[in-house]
Amino acid sequence: MSKLQPVRGTHDLLPEESRRHRHIVETGLAVSGRYGFGEIETPIFEFTEVFKRTLGEASDVVSKEMYTFTDRGGEELTLRPEGTASVCRALISGGQTQNLPAKFFYQGPMFRYERPQKGRMRQFHQIGIELLGAGEPQADIEVITCGADILDAIGVLGRTTLEINTLGDTESRQAYRAALVDYFGAHADALSEDSRRRLALNPLRILDSKDDGDRRLVDGAPSFDDYLNAASKDFFTAVTEGLDRLGVRFHRNPRLVRGLDYYCHTAFEFVTDALGAQGTVLAGGRYDGLVETMGGPAIPGVGWAAGIERLSLLAEGVAEPSRPIALIPVGPGGEAAALTLAHRLRRAGYSVEHGYSGNVGKRLKRAAKVGARAALILGDDELARGAVQLRDLDAGAQEEAPLDRIEESLARFR
Ligand code: ATP
Ligand code: MG
Repeated sequence: MSKLQPVRGTHDLLPEESRRHRHIVETGLAVSGRYGFGEIETPIFEFTEVFKRTLGEASDVVSKEMYTFTDRGGEELTLRPEGTASVCRALISGGQTQNLPAKFFYQGPMFRYERPQKGRMRQFHQIGIELLGAGEPQADIEVITCGADILDAIGVLGRTTLEINTLGDTESRQAYRAALVDYFGAHADALSEDSRRRLALNPLRILDSKDDGDRRLVDGAPSFDDYLNAASKDFFTAVTEGLDRLGVRFHRNPRLVRGLDYYCHTAFEFVTDALGAQGTVLAGGRYDGLVETMGGPAIPGVGWAAGIERLSLLAEGVAEPSRPIALIPVGPGGEAAALTLAHRLRRAGYSVEHGYSGNVGKRLKRAAKVGARAALILGDDELARGAVQLRDLDAGAQEEAPLDRIEESLARFR
């Protein structure tokens, strides 16, 4: 393979796609800002331990998706596969664990060694929020509602369904876990190899399996609801009633579990059928044990992450870049005038395309190609009179306009 190819599963963000990504990030930042979230930017790599300890050895991410390497100093490092572990590490190492609740928004690239396909890449981008230090169901409600508001603001909410479930507290999860071990243990022969490993390490994860044989077994598995204690039920009821009161529509999916080890209580995903197999656009839940697992105090947390590439495929209302004014000099006097005029108009806030070479026809063609709204044709004769030709490129009409007040003539093309 040629060295000049991009690495499999990575892609370049050209201006059009960059603009869509930027729009999603900025909308996320603005909407979450109304909920009191502030931006945090953590390093792109961390000690491998940060992810290994939190995501769990049995998770797909740790067992087969991490980009791990040893640096020149012999440190074991990993390119971050997700944001939550890094944010919690930052809270602890930055001595912020007394300063609660803490609300963070993040955005940026994540890295997972996956099989590349539509909506699934090895370097992809996420926005996400984390609310740390609030164990009340109100926090779950706010975090989910904030996600819904962001999806709404980028025109995506209407094509998604919010699926929600509870993973209960530790006691309920242990009871359910035992029931799953009994059930899947009795069918171990029919399980995929991955799920046989999960059976020993984290049987809940089998519910999340994408293997067809596993899925058939999952259909007959015991239901979590039969193992939830009263406290877990009350918590979940408070969350769903809050969502009801706010008009956030959801669908209970009792099989929904999250792929990572640290979740409890609320788990949720906004899914769409508009993207084929990769239908989850935003996913998250409550992770009360995580900060403690990392060696910090017991600080509850709830948050979500959303894939920007998947959102970008669905987003609507992304503003087009402003259409430029084209400068078309004719002759040496025009060239000199164009140089200073371009500078003057850009400082006045116009986007200006200065055609660098070619005759008038060629430059007009290029002006059309870059989507120019109007062209200023700078001919020596007109310049001698202190004027230029102003052509409306949409209407085709052309008129002479005074150079010293050209901003006034251009105002209607803003
Ligand atoms: P999936 O089940 O699709 O593998 P996941 O459970 O691994 O998702 P999370 O870790 O919850 O995903 O990440 C949150 C979101 O980030 C996903 O819902 C998705 O939108 C996006 N995402 C995850 N992995 C990728 C990837 N490899 N390429 C593009 N987007 C991704
Ligand atoms: Mg995954």
